[in-house]
Amino acid sequence: MTSPRVAPPADTILDLTPDGARERLAQWVEERGLPRYRTDQLHRRLWVQPIATWNDATELPAALRAELDATFPLRRLKEELSELSQDGTRKFLWRLDDGEAIESVLIPSGTRRTLCISSQAGCALGCVFCATGLMGFRRNLSPFEIAGQVREVMLRDPAEKPSNIVFMGMGEPLLNWPAVDVSLTILNHPEGLGIGARHITVSTVGILPGMKKLAARPEQFRLAISLHAPTTERRLAIMPIEKKYDLHAVLDAATAFRKRITFEYVMISGKNDSDQDADALATLANKHGALVNLLPLHPGGAPGLEPTPLNRIKNFAGRLQARGVEAVVRRSRGLDIKAACGQLAGQRGTQ
Ligand code: SF4
Repeated sequence: MTSPRVAPPADTILDLTPDGARERLAQWVEERGLPRYRTDQLHRRLWVQPIATWNDATELPAALRAELDATFPLRRLKEELSELSQDGTRKFLWRLDDGEAIESVLIPSGTRRTLCISSQAGCALGCVFCATGLMGFRRNLSPFEIAGQVREVMLRDPAEKPSNIVFMGMGEPLLNWPAVDVSLTILNHPEGLGIGARHITVSTVGILPGMKKLAARPEQFRLAISLHAPTTERRLAIMPIEKKYDLHAVLDAATAFRKRITFEYVMISGKNDSDQDADALATLANKHGALVNLLPLHPGGAPGLEPTPLNRIKNFAGRLQARGVEAVVRRSRGLDIKAACGQLAGQRGTQ
């Protein structure tokens, strides 16, 4: 394994917020004495109606396209693999310019198409049930590398544009706040990807400084907390971050969010699935008005962990519901291609 890289690759116009990109394009258009409407034409080709290269912008004169290619090259994520699960879930493996690999997962459900995106290559946090945690931290992604995962899906097929985004792929988004901050603007802005804030969920283990910054944004992005255990002692055994940011401090910080929050809870036999765990979880969920997503444990994390059997998960959910908690048992999606929660490790799915 090579050493982790921390420097993001060179800046591109796709690393800017839509307002920042508009300003840069407008300046360029003015410097060249071009008509002002050109700025709008160029700008919508970044995110609203994306193109693979400027050469595809056939509404522009050929000479201008060549100049744009030289001045504002449109960076791409190289699709190395796209695998379709039997259940319709599709996993993408993107190769970045410096050789790192990240994954995204497109999950169709009725009219909804949720794209689960990565915010870092690898992850430093080492949650024991997670394959990404096992691979360690490689580097932070740039704004383009985050929002570009959506752009690439649209370039393959504009009809597949995701309706919902979840930051639940590789990495801890709030440990890469500067880039996640910009990417949230790109995702949500009407001159960016135009996805409603309430359809964008940031999932975190509870990085307090990042939670504060996210809560300070005016849009109503949704927050999911990777809780996975209802007490400090239980959580410490499966999530090392508990040592730095304990769950009570995290839940206190979550009160700054106006929208209803979600607790993510992966069910691990003997670790967090007892009746006492259910009762303690119900107390926390009621106190914070949280919805609880119960997730089956998937292969790929630390060896020796056993998934909670399905009937036990259902009993656990029933116990929460009996205490007035809205608890949902999530179906596993994309298991056959290693695209399910906790399975993303930047590998080909067949390995
Ligand atoms: S669950 Fe999230 S925070 Fe924990 S190791 Fe995996 S990617 Fe990192």
